[in-house]
Amino acid sequence: MPTSPAGRYYLQVPGPTVVPDRVLKAMAMPMLDHRGPTFANMAAGITQDLKPLFKTKQPVLIFPSSGTGAWQSAFSNTLSSGDTVLIAEVGQFSALWVANAKDMGLNVIEIPGDWRSGIDANKIEEALKADSEGKIKAVLATHNETSTGVTSDIPAIRKAMDAAGHDAMLFVDTISSLLATDYQHDAWGVDVAICGSQKGFMLPPGLSFIALSDRAQKEYGTGNLPRGYFDWAPVITATENGLYPYTPPVSLFYGLREAINVINEEGLDNMFARHARLAKATRAAVAAWGFEIQSTVESQHSNAVTAIRMPDGVSADAFRGVALEHFDISLGGGLGKVADKVFRIGHLGYQNDLSVMGAIAGVEMALGIAGIKHEKGGVLAAMDSLSADKSA
Ligand code: PLP
Repeated sequence: MPTSPAGRYYLQVPGPTVVPDRVLKAMAMPMLDHRGPTFANMAAGITQDLKPLFKTKQPVLIFPSSGTGAWQSAFSNTLSSGDTVLIAEVGQFSALWVANAKDMGLNVIEIPGDWRSGIDANKIEEALKADSEGKIKAVLATHNETSTGVTSDIPAIRKAMDAAGHDAMLFVDTISSLLATDYQHDAWGVDVAICGSQKGFMLPPGLSFIALSDRAQKEYGTGNLPRGYFDWAPVITATENGLYPYTPPVSLFYGLREAINVINEEGLDNMFARHARLAKATRAAVAAWGFEIQSTVESQHSNAVTAIRMPDGVSADAFRGVALEHFDISLGGGLGKVADKVFRIGHLGYQNDLSVMGAIAGVEMALGIAGIKHEKGGVLAAMDSLSADKSA
């Protein structure tokens, strides 16, 4: 329990993220007939408005599920049991995607990673070149690995696939990259992109988004995996008529309508620039404290989340507990291999200079209270970074 209930809770995990008040209000509207014209028009309009956010002209589907459901849907609509997929394991979410693929009956070729850098496109090329029988049906890539704060170069992966002359499809998890980092579905030649509502979209969890390519639509139904609830066909129809094959989460759709309005008012380029500067300021604070971040390659540092390594022998989870207790701030925990070794500051979604400064101040004060050896001056370094950017 925080020391005092006054003031605002700081939600600094990399999803779910802060939901703007106007989106919360939009979701509080009275329920209506999900098969009536008002909902259908709104829902059909939303699916059109999602396309520019993925930079695609192809359909973008909405499913009532978390991102994990969208992973499963990508497999079940295009692949057969025993098909092979290739994935570089660069952190906990790519590891979970592997587990999901195996659970769906797929054969997985894993390229192990160090959890400190992104997907090595050369290794993808090598693995595809070695697949002379063309067994690999899809390459799976996590654009932003939320567990490590590392962003991978998707165009480089596409280039590697083309250089290998392999015709595997490319599936990209954009769950924590979309709207924080540029993503170009059509230009980058991605076949299936997967996203969720609870991060850059600034919505509660509960919706997943799936952007398709022409190829993905051709592959639809060619496999033998059961599609069940996640069948694309009726939901592709819903992108045109707004009528879903089940009861859609009406309130979340209203929230999504308003969230897209918020996004469009800021504009994509401004959103990417805002995320980049907040991430840079956070890294400046970490460097001033004398800590290391988990991401080692500068060009791969995430716009969405920064994972900070604790000094050896210091429990990151105990530290997060201190921060929550004293300052009512939730920091992200380490996951999988880096559990209790890193903590994460999410700077994704509805965040601005002062909200991130508040988070950094909370971390610096909590470090002091927890008695963790660090240099002071993180707050100052972050302020300098933000004000230098403003005056530039
Ligand atoms: N992929 C990435 C990159 C994620 O960050 C997450 C969740 O944080 C997931 C997949 C899983 O999504 P969900 O928890 O919405 O099922």
